[in-house]
Amino acid sequence: MTHVHVIGGGLAGLSAAIELAGRAFVTVHEAGPACGGRARSYHDKALGTRIDNGNHLVLSANDAVFRYLGLIGAEKSLKGPGVPIFPYFDLEADLAWALRLSRGRVPFWALPGGARVPGMKMRELGSLFRLLKADDAATVESCLIPGMLSRRLLEPFAVSALNTDCATGSARLLGNIVEQSLAKGGMACCPWYPSEGLSESFVDPAVAHLGALGSEVRHGARVTGLETRDGRVTALVFGAETMALGAEDHVVMAVPAPVASGLLAPHWPGFTAPDAFESIVNVHYRLPEVPDVRGRVAQAGFVGVVGGITEWVFVKDDILSVTVSAANRYGSRDHENLKATIWQEVRRVIGPVVSGGLPVVMPPVRLVWEKRATFAATPAQDRLRPGAATPFGNMVLAGDWTQTGLPSTIEGAIRSGVTASRASGLLPGG
Ligand SMILES: Cc1cc2nc3c(=O)[nH]c(=O)nc-3n(C[C@H](O)[C@H](O)[C@H](O)COP(=O)(O)OP(=O)(O)OC[C@H]3O[C@@H](n4cnc5c(N)ncnc54)[C@H](O)[C@@H]3O)c2cc1C
Repeated sequence: MTHVHVIGGGLAGLSAAIELAGRAFVTVHEAGPACGGRARSYHDKALGTRIDNGNHLVLSANDAVFRYLGLIGAEKSLKGPGVPIFPYFDLEADLAWALRLSRGRVPFWALPGGARVPGMKMRELGSLFRLLKADDAATVESCLIPGMLSRRLLEPFAVSALNTDCATGSARLLGNIVEQSLAKGGMACCPWYPSEGLSESFVDPAVAHLGALGSEVRHGARVTGLETRDGRVTALVFGAETMALGAEDHVVMAVPAPVASGLLAPHWPGFTAPDAFESIVNVHYRLPEVPDVRGRVAQAGFVGVVGGITEWVFVKDDILSVTVSAANRYGSRDHENLKATIWQEVRRVIGPVVSGGLPVVMPPVRLVWEKRATFAATPAQDRLRPGAATPFGNMVLAGDWTQTGLPSTIEGAIRSGVTASRASGLLPGG
């Protein structure tokens, strides 16, 4: 049986492994103590509970995500409101509202009434058409028509989807998301997130499924080098150990872009990959008890925030978890100050919909700063993304940074694994 070595046990590597397991003997070599990469859960000592490294949201339009969850038997492990509803709060205007998208393709939600973004004008929908038609060089900012739709929905949507500010973010990448979600109608935009944790939804069931198919995962297995000869990868190097590959062995390289660059540069003249990154900050507050949350925020399980530092607040049991995207701009801020400032914002947003409000004194808190959360989704960085094929007959690439047509997302990572497995030539018809 062919032996496939998947380097990297993030969602891209696990996706490729799931596609190939059963048709080949698959070994996932994961450097860390557990799989999941940037989408994982762990026990946090400071909070005394299990948390996700960052809040992750997917949309019902994310076909590859739901197919993957089906393959690993975890399709019921996500939860969400089941309707396209997005509660919001504008800190500058002290205004709460809920965007309720119409179920179908016609944007009835944008008509005057209770479901749309307060203060928006119909003509602002033109921003969406501009994004759909944007060329490779256009930025998000150049496509947005100024107004409340941009300020209260499209700009925050762009910043969280691209993890890049609107002045530099790629309009084409955002346009692709609009094309694959909003343009298909509201029911394509229902938000979903893990009911327990990222690992319980995306990672643990995948590792169990691989085991059931006779494949294996090696933790603590960091690939530090490759050996190549005559257009093939002939060995994987793990520090002092070298693992020779057989004549039929294949490799799926599914490590982050900087690691791939380090491993491939000596063997692949002209290899390019994204080399500029954006951070994401997550701040997890543990409340003294599970809050009794009311209304739209309870229905959705989260709220979007504009006009402050906070962008999303997720309510999960006794944890209130805040996401701040494109966070390089806060790089010089003192962490203690950030925690306290964000807590005051959270009190204003969530306090009014919680019975008894939220404590004035900040509860136990953990700030997680993912420095290289995603590549910077700019037109220039997008051009550096390679496809799955490599000059080596027995190696393909996967990862959210490869050319998926999407920014760094779970959907992109999983799709890249499927693309890589097809490009390996090991699947029927591949
Ligand atoms: C805080 C945060 C919030 C996010 N929010 C969202 C969201 O809401 N929605 C969404 O769709 N996406 C979101 N994303 C993006 C999403 O998490 C990523 O796109 C996806 O997880 C990337 O998967 P990957 O497999 O391509 O890369 P990674 O997850 O980085 O996996 C690479 C794996 O390779 C391993 N590795 C590295 N070097 C080696 C080596 N030398 N040898 C062996 N193994 C190695 C790593 O340990 C890792 O497990 C978010 C990301 C972050 C960080």
